[in-house]
Amino acid sequence: MRTPDRGASVTHPPVFGAPARSHLFNEDNRDHYVHAVTRGVAAVGEQLATTRQPFTGITPAELGLEVEVVDLDSPLGDGEAALAEVERLYLRHAVYFHDVKYAAHLNCPVVIPALVGEAVLSAVNSSMDTWDQSAGATLMERHLIEWTAGRLGLGPAADGVFTSGGSQSNLQALLIARNRAFARAQAHQTPATDAPIRLPEVLSRLRIFTSAASHFSIRTSASTLGLGFDAVVAIATDDAQRLDPAALAAAIADCLAAGLVPMAVVATAGTTDFGSIDPLSQIAGICALHDVWLHVDAAYGGGLITSRRHAGLLEGIERADSVTLDYHKTFFQPVSSSAVIVRDGAMLGHVTHHADYLNPRSASLLVPNQVDKSIQTTRRFDALKLWFTLRTMGADAIGEMLDEVIDLAGRVYAVLRAAPDFEVVVEPVLSTLVFRYWPPSGDDLSQSQLDDLNVGIRRDIFASGEAVIAGTTVAGRHYLKFTLLNPHTTLADLEHILALIRLHGGRLLAPTRAVAHV
Ligand SMILES: *Cc1c(COP(=O)(O)O)cnc(C)c1O
Repeated sequence: MRTPDRGASVTHPPVFGAPARSHLFNEDNRDHYVHAVTRGVAAVGEQLATTRQPFTGITPAELGLEVEVVDLDSPLGDGEAALAEVERLYLRHAVYFHDVKYAAHLNCPVVIPALVGEAVLSAVNSSMDTWDQSAGATLMERHLIEWTAGRLGLGPAADGVFTSGGSQSNLQALLIARNRAFARAQAHQTPATDAPIRLPEVLSRLRIFTSAASHFSIRTSASTLGLGFDAVVAIATDDAQRLDPAALAAAIADCLAAGLVPMAVVATAGTTDFGSIDPLSQIAGICALHDVWLHVDAAYGGGLITSRRHAGLLEGIERADSVTLDYHKTFFQPVSSSAVIVRDGAMLGHVTHHADYLNPRSASLLVPNQVDKSIQTTRRFDALKLWFTLRTMGADAIGEMLDEVIDLAGRVYAVLRAAPDFEVVVEPVLSTLVFRYWPPSGDDLSQSQLDDLNVGIRRDIFASGEAVIAGTTVAGRHYLKFTLLNPHTTLADLEHILALIRLHGGRLLAPTRAVAHV
């Protein structure tokens, strides 16, 4: 039987509702590919044109009903119909981070060059584990790691790898620190003739030191790595929510005195809630004294490497043994895009596992295989988004946007400080503000009533969809939080959100007042 001419069978590729093979990304379906992806992009564009607030306020119950009735065994057979369904179930009710009244979590509006990168990388679908699945992608990722390490000032031996996010970067950094601590325990084993010490025997003695304001992924990493949550020693912070170096030094001394092993210190450059930056140089000095691994979690603050005005805030980061950066936070990149960088590239060997089908030892000497540096195997070419961004806009443009939101945070701080009905926790260094609504008329409220008031305000604003703000706790009390990453947001936008807070707060207080006056 003759094979039909591949080109001839699809001279006019039907755009939608075609046989399965017409949906494959290949040369025959080129027109279909370009058209279909363009339609998807256009649908998002149409949504942008009509979206006027960050959220519609729909509830999980309402949306759940619509999603559940979709019979996944009965395809619509038509791309336009499928797109309309996605519009109804997803686009219409998504939470939009580009909206100026989205001020909740560390989600940035994304830059368009990165979206071009996203479209390109997902179509080609390279996988970063080996050279023979990625080619130039591996070299470009490596070049971006060198660029990042260079800006951090980590020195010529630095190396690293892209990851899916800050949590994974932190996990990998702590895995390296753990395996290094274990390797040292083995090396110092006396007498050397004993049966080799095993990892589980060492785990229970390892300790990690980090401030009380650090990210929860440090604790979950400790647990995942077999150390247990309680292997993380919480170090006190000062009034500005920065790790107190004297308390750190004392805790390490206690650890050593108890015969335990200080495995790592995790400093934070930009705490998630307060944006506070731990005193990195002082902490690096303490780590050097005791030869303890210093990891700097710069998932949030890492973007400062692009800022001409604020890069100095990261002083001391060049002394870190490892650093986490989230490009999907302060570099305006789409999720996911993050990296873990180590000062001494050889340390990445602590995660290397040789699988003969992926990286036979002989071959890995000749070609660069990123799987040797990663705890993932199949991995996206997320680096292309940052590449496109730097090559189109340049790092200064990123830094300027970050500078704008830092300035904005300073201005909102002044407004909050001056307002009699708001209490703000710390002056921002980056772009978050933690505060609570506490009007003079609420002077008689107990702390737990104040908690309820602020939790209620956040809930009601989210339900209205007019704005999205975050909440957090400080010393057990509930606060509201702005996380500002949108250079398009103005002070007036944020004052509008403050007006919403007063409005909803007033409504929530009204019944209490009514009762009080009975
Ligand atoms: C966001 C954040 C993380 C976690 O990063 P993901 O990308 O969400 O996994 C870790 N540390 C800090 C300080 C963060 O702000």
